[in-house]
Amino acid sequence: MSDGTSPRAAKIIVIANQKGGVGKTTTAINLGAALAEIGQKTLIVDLDPQGNASTGLGIALSDRTVTTYDLLLEDASLENVYQKTHREELFVAPSTTDLSSADIELVSNERRSFLLHDALRRPEVTKLGFDHILIDCPPSLNLLTINAMVAAHSLLVPLQSEFFALEGLSQLMLTLREVRQSANPSLRIEGVVLTMFDARNNLSLQVEQDAREALGELVFNTRIPRNVRISEAPSFAQTVLEYDTRSKGSAAYRALAEEMIARSVRASD
Ligand code: ADP
Ligand code: MG
Repeated sequence: MSDGTSPRAAKIIVIANQKGGVGKTTTAINLGAALAEIGQKTLIVDLDPQGNASTGLGIALSDRTVTTYDLLLEDASLENVYQKTHREELFVAPSTTDLSSADIELVSNERRSFLLHDALRRPEVTKLGFDHILIDCPPSLNLLTINAMVAAHSLLVPLQSEFFALEGLSQLMLTLREVRQSANPSLRIEGVVLTMFDARNNLSLQVEQDAREALGELVFNTRIPRNVRISEAPSFAQTVLEYDTRSKGSAAYRALAEEMIARSVRASD
């Protein structure tokens, strides 16, 4: 949070994993809601042409007139792209399927990997007063995900507690290395969060053990449980924190927000 004198630049976190259905969007929405709840002004940037984060946050398709497509390809400023959600302190820059053509439209653009960086890191964005910007990525390591990794300060990886979860991670880490070498040397790993965790399931426990062995401290202590309230919430255009504030899912995303903040305080000591 700012100290009240000069606004500080937002911390930009890319939420990525090239596998679909691992909890990226769910984590973007609900971690965002949990951060907003503790007074952190938070923006979700929907960088997936499927627009699930936009839908889950209640932005009707007819209200998505200016989108992240315009932010990347039409030089629109963030100020004109983002919208309020019905949660205080939580905002979204929505997307539509228009964004799916970005890869092709950008082949000949020399700054094609830097477009989101240029849009989010300009000084005017600081004046908007965001504490956190969370970027929800498509399920692929395409140019959109690269843009997000180039724009971000850190990478948050949702890891679904299922077979082969860690195999997919090595490909993501290769991309991380490439991005560090070419465009964003200071990109850190914010952490890996286990999603859809089921403590009664041996496979979940095995994935957790393997992840902690391989990645150590990078794995958040907080695990997001498999919780039906989490999966029901988006169809009511609500985050789980509003849909069922006392659910295990809400508690887990609150704990994740707290753990993330506590870690970054420690890191900056
Ligand atoms: P991604 O964005 O990585 O493709 P999603 O966040 O859309 O993944 O999640 C995929 C599906 O799993 C969605 O239907 C979502 O509601 C469900 N889901 C995600 N996390 C949980 C959870 N912790 N418990 C139950 N269902 C979940
Ligand atoms: Mg998604």
